[in-house]
Amino acid sequence: MIKIKDNSLCCGCTACVAACPVQCITMKRDIEGFDYPFANPDLCIGCGKCEAVCPILSPDALPVGTGMLKTWAARSDADEAGSSSGGIFPVLARDVLEKGGTVFGAAFLDVRTVGHVEDDIQAMKGSKYVQSDLFSSFEDVRSCLEQGRQALFSGTPCQVAGLKGYLEKDYPGLVTVDCACHGVPGPGLWSGYVDALEERHGGHIVKVEFRDKTTGWRNYSFTVTMDDGRRIASGKDNDPYMALFLQDITLRPSCYNCRFRCSRSGSDITLGDFWNVGKAMPKLNDGKGLNVISANSRKGMDIVASLNIRLEEVPVNEAIAENGGFEGDIPVPASRAAFFAGLPNAGKNLYSYMKGFVRRTPLHKRIYRSFHSTMSELKKQLLK
Ligand SMILES: Cc1cc2nc3c(=O)[nH]c(=O)nc-3n(C[C@H](O)[C@H](O)[C@H](O)COP(=O)(O)OP(=O)(O)OC[C@H]3O[C@@H](n4cnc5c(N)ncnc54)[C@H](O)[C@@H]3O)c2cc1C
Repeated sequence: MIKIKDNSLCCGCTACVAACPVQCITMKRDIEGFDYPFANPDLCIGCGKCEAVCPILSPDALPVGTGMLKTWAARSDADEAGSSSGGIFPVLARDVLEKGGTVFGAAFLDVRTVGHVEDDIQAMKGSKYVQSDLFSSFEDVRSCLEQGRQALFSGTPCQVAGLKGYLEKDYPGLVTVDCACHGVPGPGLWSGYVDALEERHGGHIVKVEFRDKTTGWRNYSFTVTMDDGRRIASGKDNDPYMALFLQDITLRPSCYNCRFRCSRSGSDITLGDFWNVGKAMPKLNDGKGLNVISANSRKGMDIVASLNIRLEEVPVNEAIAENGGFEGDIPVPASRAAFFAGLPNAGKNLYSYMKGFVRRTPLHKRIYRSFHSTMSELKKQLLK
């Protein structure tokens, strides 16, 4: 029977929930706002399936990933409005739909809830920096594959590892895509933060964009749209939720020593931002977003080769430079414990409570960024 004694050893992938033959495991939210499995001892039959499929407790059960075989800088030919990077995910997804397959990915169900849905590619576009609820995705992926159809599953590296553990074998029709991931905040903190923002802005939020690129791909904003039509944008380092996420303070405990990031989840393809743009072909970087694609399997290589996209092969070290999502362990920030210890008492002051934990960007970095964005704006005007 699964029993989580150390939270850092549970990534919340829900493979155990999906695999339990008597459905005795439910996810329960902890004080930090993350979900963990809880097995009802009165219903558990002690079969051990939950532990056998767990990618952390039984890592040997996972198919061994080969890691990054080839890496590219890439972007979609189409203007993929809403995509966070170069819009490669929607191209991959449409390819599968056109072949009669099903696509599983994360979308907003409402502004407080992120969960996995099927086939709604427009809703899946854009990174949502909160752990998504997988609902019955793992079971639905399997049923799709058992019918001989293609299934594309897109998620964080731990979700892909969880799916692989649950499926227990490889299927020819399965395509897995994970994101370069430096960690996720929990759904509890996010829904509380939406309440705090609504209080602050006076109204209901109808849309959230974690990566609004109207201010630039590198210099993106966190933008909310209110029910009266107001669009309220904050720089990524000025919004407390985004700043604490980027400063690694609000991540799930298992994210700090994640065993699946850096293309180690067994995924076929990893997608990320190509931040090291200075090294990429200038014609690929139009400032609207550029992906890193890593093919991690033969299948992944064949899929990338078949896509109609603009791409340029680059050595792995250039593809992943300047990108925390491809780095190893993340040190736990000294302020994380204090942040979560005080969180239950923040109440109506959640916004200012969170703001109090944001580390100010050093002056030289602020000057550099402001200079950089003025120069890019100037360059754009001159090229018009
Ligand atoms: C939590 C998180 C952390 C990330 N950290 C990094 C990083 O450190 N470095 C980096 O280079 N890239 C990171 N990314 C990936 C990056 O932001 C883009 O998602 C990726 O480059 C794909 O861009 P795109 O334009 O091709 O796809 P888009 O069209 O933007 O599609 C987004 C894809 O991400 C999936 N997705 C969105 N939110 C979630 C979620 N909460 N859980 C699971 N899947 C989700 C969607 O299902 C969809 O497949 C992160 C993404 C997430 C979700």
